[in-house]
Amino acid sequence: MDNLVALAARDDLLAIVAAWPALQARLEPSGSSTGGASHPAPGSRPPIDLHVSDLMHEIETEARALGRILLEETDDWQPDTSEMPGLLRSVALRFGHFTHGDDEKTAYDFLDIAHEFRRKVALALERPEPARWMGPCIVPECDGELRLFGHRVDTTCPECGNVAGLLEVRKHLHAALKDRLMTRGELVSALFVLGIEVKPKTLDKWVERGRLEKAVEDPDLYRLEDALRLAERGKVAA
Ligand SMILES: [Zn+2]
Repeated sequence: MDNLVALAARDDLLAIVAAWPALQARLEPSGSSTGGASHPAPGSRPPIDLHVSDLMHEIETEARALGRILLEETDDWQPDTSEMPGLLRSVALRFGHFTHGDDEKTAYDFLDIAHEFRRKVALALERPEPARWMGPCIVPECDGELRLFGHRVDTTCPECGNVAGLLEVRKHLHAALKDRLMTRGELVSALFVLGIEVKPKTLDKWVERGRLEKAVEDPDLYRLEDALRLAERGKVAA
């Protein structure tokens, strides 16, 4: 393995380490540093960027896997921290174990992973934040679906043009969607619109542990009412 190629892989990983705070900022959709009178209240923040949180989870899983390999195969490597992004930094600095070992496949896999993650991180940070699904239009008989763009606190229906504030949408949504079937991503959005913040990871745990059951009608979908009940219970427990 060429030294320069190996160093490029290290630099790819270090670039991800450097970009980590920017990724984390994407998970705090209020832009909490701005403040000011026109700043939306905490309850009206859009939910987190699912794409970014998935990517961060993927990178963290890989960093842990590489760290485990280093712990098993070397006697002198310890990560500075078990937390991201420090963990990835510690892994990156020991790149030679992967790029200059006996196994060429390991080396090329390492290069590919580093390159691919760096590319995905750059793409994720380039993308404007996606519009959030906010439920059906509050106008009776209208079939429009409401979306919230960026940090706005009101929505305009693409079908009828009605402008509705978050509070109005929230009241309407609860009545309209109690029995609706949704994907996990839609659930996070719907719960948020109802004023309840549930992290995607928490939802995953509910599903894994069988607390949130799949809808009988469609195994990919869940009932909002069930998730609401679990979220309310979680509040009481906390
Ligand atoms: Zn409408």
